Order: sequence, then structure tokens, then C-alpha cells
Amino acid sequence: MSKAQAIRMERPRYFREQPQQAAERVSGSERDRLMERISDLLRERDAVLVAHYYTDPDLQILADRTGGYVSDSLDMARFGAEHEASTLVVAGVRFMGETAKILTPEKRVLMPDLEATCSLDEGCPPDAFSAWCDRHPDRTVVVYANTSAAVKARADWVVTSSIALDIINHLKARGEKILWGPDKHLGDYLQRETGADMLLWDGSCIVHEEFKGLELEKLRGEHPEAKVLVHPESPRAVVEQADVVGSTSKLLEAVTTMDAREFIVATDAGIFHKMLESAPDKVLLKAPTAGRGATCSSCAHCPWMALNGLHSLLRVLERGDNEIQVDEAVAEKARVSLGRMMDFARAHKRAVAGDA
Ligand code: SF4
Repeated sequence: MSKAQAIRMERPRYFREQPQQAAERVSGSERDRLMERISDLLRERDAVLVAHYYTDPDLQILADRTGGYVSDSLDMARFGAEHEASTLVVAGVRFMGETAKILTPEKRVLMPDLEATCSLDEGCPPDAFSAWCDRHPDRTVVVYANTSAAVKARADWVVTSSIALDIINHLKARGEKILWGPDKHLGDYLQRETGADMLLWDGSCIVHEEFKGLELEKLRGEHPEAKVLVHPESPRAVVEQADVVGSTSKLLEAVTTMDAREFIVATDAGIFHKMLESAPDKVLLKAPTAGRGATCSSCAHCPWMALNGLHSLLRVLERGDNEIQVDEAVAEKARVSLGRMMDFARAHKRAVAGDA
């Protein structure tokens, strides 16, 4: 990599001013060296880097600069499937690597850290979920993309946040009753919006659950012109104050297209990198996670996403370990529930991207 390219990879100002939450702190010259070495290895290993919006901006910059991709999980998997590289390096959390492997079983899928998981996935063990489904055989099982391969395999449908409303409306119109898992806040939002008959699994995202309704109200009072953008994994008291509720892609689009200067954003702060890249003049405020009852264990940044760093990325490329494996019998069933969503999206010309 040339010096000029290295300079263009400068860490964005917003993140320079925040405490770096990644497991590894990297100084300026060390950062340049790591980025250069990773770029070389991606080429040598016939690999492409796909990174989630919530990962550290250094990884997002690397993905963009090396011909990779930054997006939501399903869009990451679709990009990987269409890309000619034989190896996908997925910077995100485990269910994203699994989804990539399910959709492209012939490719090698590596992840910087296999410990990177998700509270929604962790809070929905396949055996317990399957037993719950068995107790409600009259209901259609719809699960969020943020689940393990085994839970997807047990479901009739997988949905992402951007297409969930359409699919739940579609099932309701067919007279189907729904068993929903694992995110109770997203389920509650879908139930209220569609009026569908839904039973909800008791799961949540530890990042979005921390946003506080009362404190958001106060912040809105201090910034009366600001538009409020909320991911529907947030609690009802936060969702009800939103100008826009939607997937990460929808919130990103809102920042660039809405005629407002200030935005209060209730989703993982990792998205600020792409928001400021596409709308550098806008002012972004983190929705409050502090206040009464606050523990702020994430402070608007997913601790598992933060396990993805330059050192772990370099390690996985050097060693070629941390490969994602999905049992083929499980993958085959999961492809059916994922496929239903993709067919629905094609038929209705809708985008499916949009997990947390
Ligand atoms: S932000 Fe929430 S939903 Fe996304 S990976 Fe982290 S815990 Fe899971």
C-alpha cells in the first residue's frame, strides 16, 4: 500500500474523540503497519473483508479500501456470495459468519474472533426455543436474523428489521398466528404496528435495551430541532419518541435525506462512521443510555462487535483459523427459512438488509 493510501485511511474525527472500546488499542504508526499488512494478506489469500456497520471504523475503512463491503448482516452475506473471492473474512458477530456460510457453503468463512456473539443469539438456545415451538404447533415460527443457524433451521421464516413489517403483515393477511423470537422489543413494535396475533420470546439486545425514554425526552427538550432516529430493538418508551424507526440502513438513509441538521440516534454508535461519511455536515447525538436504573454495560457500543480489531483480523489472516462451520443438515433447513424471506423480497421488490 502506498503512503498516500495509508493517509486516506485516517481514523475519522468522531472516533478519535471517543474512548476506543475495541479490545486492542492501536497507535498511529502501528495502525498504518497493521492496515498495510492486512491489505496485502487479503490479496495473497484471495480473501475479501466484509464488515458490519457496528464494527470499529478502522475495519470499515479497510473493507471499503480493499474492495470489500460494509453493511448489515444479510447484505454482507449476499455480497460475499456474489464476490469471486474464495475466502470471506466476516468482521461482525458469530451469527453473521454462520449466515454467510449457510448462503455460501462452498466458501471458507473466517472471523477475527469466534467469541464475538450477540445477546439475542445467546438468549435463544436452540433446544429451549424448539421446545417452545413444539408447544405451539398452530403458529408460524418467525425469527429475527440475529439467531443461531440451529434456531433459523427450526423457523418457518427468517426476517431482518427492514422487511419484518411486510412479512408479518403478509402472514397476518393469510390468517396466520405467529410465534416470534428472540427480540421482545422488536416483536412488541411489530405487534403494535400490524395488530398480528404474536407470542413473543423474552430476548433483547443489551445495547438497544439501554436507551432510556425519560432521558431521551430531556435531550429532545435541549435540542428541539433534532430528529430522533431509533432502531426497533429499543424499548417502547424510546421507539414512541422516534421521527424514524427502522433498520440501520433506513437510519443511515434518514441522516442523508432528511432536511435536518441535528439527529439523536438510538442505535450502536458504530453507525456514526458511515453516517458522517455520507453526511459530514450533520450533527449526531447519541441517545442517552445513562439515567435512572442505568447500568450502561454497553454505552451504545456492542461489546462483541468491539472484539473485532486490527490485531485479531491480522491474526486470523496469518493463521487461517477461526473458520466458521455449520452442520450441513442444519444449513439446509436454515436455507429454506432464509430463502422464503429472499423470495418474498424479490417478489415485492424490497430490500432485506437490516439486522442490528
Ligand atoms: S448490537 Fe445487540 S443485536 Fe447487535 S450484535 Fe450486539 S448484542 Fe447483538
